Amino acid sequence: MSEYILRTNQLTKQYKGHNAVDHVDLSVRKGDIYGFIGQNGAGKSTMLRLVTGLAFPTGGTMEIFGTDAKEGLNDAQKRMGAIIENPALFPDMTAKENLEVHRLQKGIPGKDCIEETLKLVELTETGKKKVKNFSLGMKQRLGLAVALLSNPEFLILDEPTNGLDPIGIVELRELIKKLNREKGLTVLISSHILSELYQLATTYGIIHEGRLIEELSLKELDEKCRQHLKIKVDDAAKGATVLEKTLGTADFEVMPDGTIHLYQHLDDVRTVSRALTDSGLIIEHFARTGDSLESYFSKLVGGGHHE
Ligand code: ATP
Repeated sequence: MSEYILRTNQLTKQYKGHNAVDHVDLSVRKGDIYGFIGQNGAGKSTMLRLVTGLAFPTGGTMEIFGTDAKEGLNDAQKRMGAIIENPALFPDMTAKENLEVHRLQKGIPGKDCIEETLKLVELTETGKKKVKNFSLGMKQRLGLAVALLSNPEFLILDEPTNGLDPIGIVELRELIKKLNREKGLTVLISSHILSELYQLATTYGIIHEGRLIEELSLKELDEKCRQHLKIKVDDAAKGATVLEKTLGTADFEVMPDGTIHLYQHLDDVRTVSRALTDSGLIIEHFARTGDSLESYFSKLVGGGHHE
């Protein structure tokens, strides 16, 4: 059984009669990179503030590292690292000096963690360069270093790619993957763009108007978004045999409702339909389908604007 790092139960935060976070049940498993997706104002920051103890829920409960957060949030916080707002970086100091200030603030013993963390975020070469002369991507990585200084098991990042250029986004993604792979770090990361976290997150939670409207794995997301021919024939088992024997393909799935999703021959629909009808099958439905990530997201949240 997988171990949960975070589980919320009907977690709610109300501001002036409005539920910014509305009865959310969210689960993050150990080793997950959990992509938390929602448009601006959907409730992502509020949710992450609740999890990190920067705000208090008006309803519901949460468990962090298997302990009720009411009793154990202080202990849990020591095992978490977070970037919720822009971390305080001192522009006239170097990367190393910045980390030293944060190390002292957090009461972390020993200076070794500074070099180790700089290495982790690939900022060892910055030497005497002051932070004010860093690129945004470098500043973001230094912010990450601040969150990683205490060697946390659970990292929480609120829209860390905001304002980064495409290269900065790719670098940050690779870094997060590396931390997850090499240090076994569990990550909860929010974004208002689904595609930005695509292929990074292993699980996706989609929040809209404070409610968690869907939680799905990367595999499930891929299945929903992968282009395929959706075929319904009067005998699904026979249809599957025809695809295998006549078309020589195994790249299809028979869904629980009997429809067949065929991932090959997308541009060769005539050959497919002919093979099926030639073997005496009646085609009840035949369509090319599959969403782009953006259209899938828009469908879920009602096609509103992203900004
Ligand atoms: P963004 O990406 O724009 O930060 P978000 O998904 O993080 O969006 P939140 O910042 O959590 O959304 O905001 C959710 C809702 O709660 C919004 O309607 C916001 O106005 C409201 N809200 C958030 N914080 C407060 C607060 N301190 N006081 C009153 N309302 C708040």
